[in-house]
Amino acid sequence: MHLRIVSTAATLATLMVTALASGQSPTTALAPHQQLAKDIYKELVEYNTSVTTAGTTDASVAMAKRFRDAGFPEQDIFVGGPVPHKHNIVVRLRGRGGANAPKPALLLAHIDVVEALKADWSPDLDPFKFIEKDGFYYGRGTADDKAMAAIFVANLIRLKKDNYVGDRDIIVALTADEEGGQYNGVRWLLQNHKALVDAAFVINEGGRGAMKQDKPLFNELQATQKNVANFTVTAKNRGGHSSVPRPDNAIYQLSEGIARFAKYNFPVKLNVVTRTFFERTAAVETRELGAAMRALVKNEGDQAAIATIAKDPRYNSMMRTTCVATGLTGGHAANALPQTAEVRINCRMVPDADPAEVRAQIEKAFADTGLEVSRAGTRNYVEPSSIGPEMLGPVEQVTRELYGSIPVIPAMSTGATDSQPFRVAGIPAYGVSGIMSDVDDIRAHGKDERVLIKAFYDGQEFLYRLTKLLTTNRPIP
Ligand SMILES: [Zn+2]
Repeated sequence: MHLRIVSTAATLATLMVTALASGQSPTTALAPHQQLAKDIYKELVEYNTSVTTAGTTDASVAMAKRFRDAGFPEQDIFVGGPVPHKHNIVVRLRGRGGANAPKPALLLAHIDVVEALKADWSPDLDPFKFIEKDGFYYGRGTADDKAMAAIFVANLIRLKKDNYVGDRDIIVALTADEEGGQYNGVRWLLQNHKALVDAAFVINEGGRGAMKQDKPLFNELQATQKNVANFTVTAKNRGGHSSVPRPDNAIYQLSEGIARFAKYNFPVKLNVVTRTFFERTAAVETRELGAAMRALVKNEGDQAAIATIAKDPRYNSMMRTTCVATGLTGGHAANALPQTAEVRINCRMVPDADPAEVRAQIEKAFADTGLEVSRAGTRNYVEPSSIGPEMLGPVEQVTRELYGSIPVIPAMSTGATDSQPFRVAGIPAYGVSGIMSDVDDIRAHGKDERVLIKAFYDGQEFLYRLTKLLTTNRPIP
């Protein structure tokens, strides 16, 4: 497989990377819309929007100014949020309109980031400085999620400049507190300003483009995600003086249960998205893993296939509910028998799992230990967004145009994204970016976060073409 460069954008990006490698300034090689995306990217990264220690308002206001300067009317720009420092921005590019106009397309990115300390990063980098080095853009949020945010802003301005009128409105929403925090912008907008973000579908983070040794491997289309449930298992004991130990001991009881629980595997349960995921991933995996994936799709009870796939923690998490001990407390003094011992268990449930059933499995593991499992939350099942041809088709088309014949792989996020509140509200939401990164180079939330410079501009072109395709002469969903 070889990277086919078909777009001017990609060619320019290649020139630029070449220029970088030879130590020249790459700026001359950028097309105006690329330069714009880069300027916005830099600006966003250099606003410290750390989720617990900073806010998103300054960044939102700066983006509003860019839209205003580009000629967007005031009534199509909204900046607001539940508290003064956690503002979101929502901007609308009007489509053709009319009584039969389909609902808008919503392009979503969060602009808060995970905390980062300069001391934790390499000495020549700073998480809140946008730095170009060795063919990469570095900075907190370069990958998660300010590349998409910058691209959406630049692309919307480019469309406006080109007098593009789609068959539907295009909304860009940049939001707060996706990475935690109490002021999640998506939930706030859906609850308080539904009309601003009401859409036929959402394009969001959560689907990656994967490369191996600089060759594109696959492009993901995230269409569902796991649900979280937390449980606490508690051992209680009457305690006493540590100089007179007894066989009954809260810590020993709890440990026995944990040891048993550690070996427990939840049953495999695929859905339409993960079944397609394994079907298509089989084509890009090793022969052994690929064969196991095909066998699993044919028969969910194939224990040999399950054992092979389960060796890879990511694939394991993709095919079943997982629960893991993430915290342990117990005892109140060095010289006392413990009266309480507790383990915290974090579960990532497949979308259609019932928390009460997951709790029952945990109880089973801790049976005969006399321990108490905390109550389960309520079931929160959300249908995966359709992976039918109306979305898969355009994503496959643009993927082919830019990256050749690599598969588009529908996927389930094992973590959380802001797509879920939209799915709950009945709006299909998809994670797809077209921004390629090495399968083994995942740095979001971590040290020296970065995005390949070429991948950024290819992603910009990918999302530009996808946006146009999804807003031009499409059947009305
Ligand atoms: Zn993110």
